[in-house]
Amino acid sequence: MTYVIVEPCIGEKNSSCVDVCPVSCIYEAEEMYYINPDECIECGACEPECPVNAIFHDSAVPDEGKSYTEKNRELSGL
Ligand code: SF4
Repeated sequence: MTYVIVEPCIGEKNSSCVDVCPVSCIYEAEEMYYINPDECIECGACEPECPVNAIFHDSAVPDEGKSYTEKNRELSGL
């Protein structure tokens, strides 16, 4: 399991999450930030930092964001 960044990040890219991640597993792509699921330790620190509520635990991603679990994996090269 991991945390996942979903659609509201696109166009926002606030980056507050990046600053709080203790293992530096949040990376920047062209459109959005993403979380490497193999590196995330599920600490939850990033979730409340996002001003557009784009970060969810994998088990709590809303239906409209489900495809982003795979997208975060793909962007991580996994
Ligand atoms: Fe980083 Fe913790 Fe967020 Fe995972 S849950 S991306 S380890 S801040």
